[in-house]
This record gives sequence, structure tokens and C-alpha cells, in this order.
Amino acid sequence: MKKYDVIVVGAGVSGLLAALTLSKHGKKVLVLEKGEHLGGNCNSYVVDGYQVDTGAHAITHLIEGPLPRLMDNYFDFLPVFEDYGYYYVRTENGLTKVPSNLKDFVTFDVLPRKDRLILSQTLTKALTLSSFGIDLSDQSVYDFLPKNLCKDTYDFVDTISGFLSGKSMKDTSAQRVLSGSSFVRDSITQEQFDAMIGKFEHKKRQSTESILSSILPYHLHASLQARVDKVAQPFTSLERLATNKVNYSQGYPRKGLKALLNAILYSFPDTVEIKSECEVTGILVESEKVYGVEADDIYLADLIIYTGFATDLPELIKDLPQAYIEELKGIVHTKSLTIWLGLKEELPEFKYTGSEIWFKDFAYWAMPISNYDPSLAPKDKQLVGFSFVIDSEQTEEHELKKAYDTIFRALPNIEKYIDMQHEQVMIPEKAAVTINGKFADIRTPVKNLYIAGTDTDRRSMGITRASYSIIELLKILNEDGNLH
Ligand SMILES: Cc1cc2nc3c(=O)[nH]c(=O)nc-3n(C[C@H](O)[C@H](O)[C@H](O)COP(=O)(O)OP(=O)(O)OC[C@H]3O[C@@H](n4cnc5c(N)ncnc54)[C@H](O)[C@@H]3O)c2cc1C
Repeated sequence: MKKYDVIVVGAGVSGLLAALTLSKHGKKVLVLEKGEHLGGNCNSYVVDGYQVDTGAHAITHLIEGPLPRLMDNYFDFLPVFEDYGYYYVRTENGLTKVPSNLKDFVTFDVLPRKDRLILSQTLTKALTLSSFGIDLSDQSVYDFLPKNLCKDTYDFVDTISGFLSGKSMKDTSAQRVLSGSSFVRDSITQEQFDAMIGKFEHKKRQSTESILSSILPYHLHASLQARVDKVAQPFTSLERLATNKVNYSQGYPRKGLKALLNAILYSFPDTVEIKSECEVTGILVESEKVYGVEADDIYLADLIIYTGFATDLPELIKDLPQAYIEELKGIVHTKSLTIWLGLKEELPEFKYTGSEIWFKDFAYWAMPISNYDPSLAPKDKQLVGFSFVIDSEQTEEHELKKAYDTIFRALPNIEKYIDMQHEQVMIPEKAAVTINGKFADIRTPVKNLYIAGTDTDRRSMGITRASYSIIELLKILNEDGNLH
């Protein structure tokens, strides 16, 4: 039986970031992944000559958020991020930019003028409360809105809520919308980071400045740095009402999502061992303390980081306290469907970088990703991903048909250009940020068994949230004397 300092269960972005950071703190790490491939929801693969991602992704908070903080401190290789572009709304009349500040609301003629005014007043109210330190996590977006808006306006707000939380505006908190639209920003400074995890000997440390110049194309660097400088000045959420950009510091990794995965993998020291197609079927506990896992063999370690679904833990460990099991049952998941369409030629409908939403009936969020990087599609062709939040009560066939009907309604021209179609049904995050939805604690009732991943932190979304969970994990390991 082999013994390691740490065993990480799961090789999604959370598990791999846990393995990378802990190995850089001098630990000998084993990563066990049940799937054939590494990366979980963060990967890319080729279908008929098109390189699709596991869902269309925008990587957020790339300037001062948790992912660049981890890159700063632990990565030896960095992906190159292309500037994200803009968010648009598609209607029968074409594309309009999504409003992210008061000025944008004035010209956003997708919604009636009266409703635009009400929405901007509501936003001002929410930001005022938030600026006074009032946390709006318990108030739903729906409760926050006046009740005299037209159906299109509710549908629009419902769509934005759905893509930010995976749930309707009745289940999405007002706070979620403020942070998801960059009014309240996710940031973590090097000083905060050092205070949380304690100083350690960096093999190689780069300043954020050098990270910026290396992850961003040179021509974008100056303009983004100007934005950073601006943010560094006292700048309240309320002031952002005038200047906010929803796409603030977002990017798409050149060469696709797997470029981020590869940057993590290439940064591993040789003290990390990874086994794929190796499902952990049991976590071994003695005297309320972990000592290993059961997979194709028994592997021993005094520290286990579990990054699968927290809701699966009761199947892996005998005798967890009933109260803990009940708590985990409060975690809510949502399902997404992504339809990738390879198009025979580059269509005028998708002549932009960024993404678009369609908010009528069945909402989608679409990204023409080959516009960032033409190598993702065969020459002169185009690749677009359409993501939907689907109803788990319905059959997948039902939701798939509804999704295709929506695409063909929104883009009547597209069908005759389809060269490749590929569908993915996934769970985007291991816990949806809803009003009453629960999250797991990083510490578990079992000593030295910790959970990391998107079901342990309610801040931000997706990969940014996974990064927060890793920073929080490091902090807790430090507090428990398990890091250094
Ligand atoms: C359609 C879609 C769109 C998205 N859009 C964005 C976006 O725009 N921006 C963004 O930042 N994020 C986005 N995300 C979310 C983001 O991809 C995920 O939040 C992130 O990749 C989750 O990483 P994770 O490691 O926490 O979980 P996962 O990727 O789920 O990884 C967990 C891993 O653990 C493995 N595992 C589980 N149990 C076991 C076991 N018992 N033994 C061994 N292995 C096990 C699984 O096989 C898996 O590989 C999107 C996701 C989807 C699906």
C-alpha cells in the first residue's frame, strides 16, 4: 500500500488546483480521477474537426480575483486570455448590448422605457443598500423588483438570474446579480492571501503586473492596466453605476478551455501522481480521522481533499453524523444543456466576440468561440456553443427539442449552415447559489478530510468560485496546522 502526504479525490479544476497548491507547499500528492480524462467540467475535445469546450465559458475576475492570485503564487505556466468582448441580447431585431450601467439602460430599447427607468432605480437602490454593508443574499431578485413591469422585462431579469444562479429570479438572490454583473467585485489581494495562508518559499513568484502582461496580448495590456489603476482608486459600487462594464476583466483562454487545464498540469512538480479511470469508492476512517481511500487499491494518506459532489460523501464514508447528512441534502444542483454547432461558414449573425442571450421562452446563452481563436474550427468555418438551463423534471429529449426549436426561432437562417452538432448535458456547479440553497463546509465531521469545489463557496461562479474554494481550503489547512 502506497502512502502519500495528501490524496485528492477528483481531477476537475478544483482537485487539480488543490494538488498544485499543496504540492508547491512541499506535499507528496496523489490525485485519483474516476473519469477517463482530467479536467472535469474544464476541458476541450475535438468533434469532427471542431474543438468544443465542456460548456461555453467566460473566465471572470482575471485581474484581481482568486484565479490570478493562485496563478501569481503557484503556476509556472500561464494560459493566454483573449479579451472577452461584450454581452449582447438577441431579439428578432438583432443584437443589442446588455446594459451594465445607467447610461446603457437609457438606450436599451429591448425593454419599454418605463421599465428601463424602474430597473435602473431598483439597481440604484440595491447598490445603495449594498454600499452601506447590507447583504442582499437573503432577498430574491423577484422580491426586489416592483410588480408592475411587463412580461418581457420579467423574462429578461429571469434569464439573467438563471445564468447567474441556475435558478429563476424567485430563487436568485439580489446579491448574486450585483456580483455577477461586476457591480460588487471579487478581489483578493496578495496581502490578504499572505495573511490567510502564511508566507511560504515560492519557487517562482510573479507580480500581478507580470501576470497581466503574460496572460494578455500586449495590445490589451495597457488598457486593462488602466482599468486596474482606476479600480485601485477609492471607487464605490455606486460610482460604478455610471461606468460599470459587465465584462470587466473577463477572458477566454486562447486554444480553448483546455489551455487552462494544461497550464495547471504543466505547473505540477514531479511530486504529484495522477491516476485516471480510478474511482474512489470509499474513504477510510479510523477513530474519526481519515487514513486513506479505497479505489482500485488501498491508498494511504493522513490528509484527504475531496472534490467530487459533497452530496455523494455519505455513500463513501460509513457512519457520518445524521445531522451532517441532512445538511448536505440542502445542496441544490441544476443541469445545463450545451449545443455546439459547427457552421459551414462564418455567419454575419456572429460577427462579434463575447456572448449573446436570448430571453424569450427558453433562454440560451451563446458564444461563438472560434471568433477568439479560429483554430477551434476548420478553416473558414465557425463554432458556436448555446447553453441552456434545463428542467430536471423533463426528459432530456424534450429539453433538447425545445432547445433546437429556440435556436431556430432566434436564428432562422442557421439550420442550413450546420456542419456539426454536438450536445452535452452537465451539472455546471456542484451547488446553485439560491436563496435557501445550502453549501458544504470545507471542514467535515471527519478529522483531516476536507472538501473543496463549487459546493463549498458561494462567492462568484464556476472556475472563479472553484479558485475561491481552494484559497479558503489553504487558509483552513493553515489554521489546522496541515499546510506547512
Ligand atoms: C455549460 C457550462 C457552462 C459553464 N460556464 C462557466 C463560465 O462561463 N465560467 C466559469 O468560470 N465556469 C463555468 N462553468 C463551471 C465550471 O466549469 C465548473 O464550475 C468547474 O469546472 C467545476 O470544477 P470542479 O473541479 O469543482 O468540479 P468538476 O469539474 O465536477 O470536477 C470534479 C471531478 O471529480 C471527479 N470525481 C467525482 N467523484 C469522484 C470519485 N468518487 N472518485 C474519483 N473521482 C471523482 C469527477 O469525475 C470530476 O472529474 C460552466 C460549466 C458548464 C457545464
